[in-house]
Amino acid sequence: MDKTDQRPTWDEYFLMIAKLAATRSTCLAFPVGAVIVKNKQVVATGYNGSPSGSAHCTTQGFCYPGLDSCDASKTMPSRAVHAEANAIAQAAKHGISTDGGSIYVTLEPCISCLKLIISAGIREVFYETSFNVGDSILVRDSFIKERLIELKQIEVSKHTFNRSASFLLNCVSTKNPSISLEFKDV
Ligand SMILES: [Zn+2]
Ligand SMILES: [Zn+2]
Repeated sequence: MDKTDQRPTWDEYFLMIAKLAATRSTCLAFPVGAVIVKNKQVVATGYNGSPSGSAHCTTQGFCYPGLDSCDASKTMPSRAVHAEANAIAQAAKHGISTDGGSIYVTLEPCISCLKLIISAGIREVFYETSFNVGDSILVRDSFIKERLIELKQIEVSKHTFNRSASFLLNCVSTKNPSISLEFKDV
């Protein structure tokens, strides 16, 4: 097989970067990662966690005393800034335009983040896992109908996943790599 065929697609590449960003999550609810891309360039990344400078849920061992997840309370708002909001905030903080960009996320954006994404001029959302249910789907779909945003669910193919996992598990930039970097279908 042609060696170039072994590489991840652009969608897989950016989704995998979003998955790596999620490993930096500091909220106990569940990890989420986001990557904002313009012209095939990463312009900002983000993951969910408490606002910059505030104690991390993972450090405290709880989100609120007695609550081990920011999603567990019916009354208290989440302490976490969502991954998409953090990526947009990072771009704002560093004066980087997000207009006309795309965002890759490990979880479909909630409606609050979707509104922020639209207002930040981002046109496309690529996500791995579905999130919205019920009335949130109606709101999401109304934005799609207004042509404000496009959403697409994507995944990393098994062969890309296996090849990338071997890259993460081993030193790859050696003259005699201990692993095969060739494409292997499993
Ligand atoms: Zn939390
Ligand atoms: Zn959100």
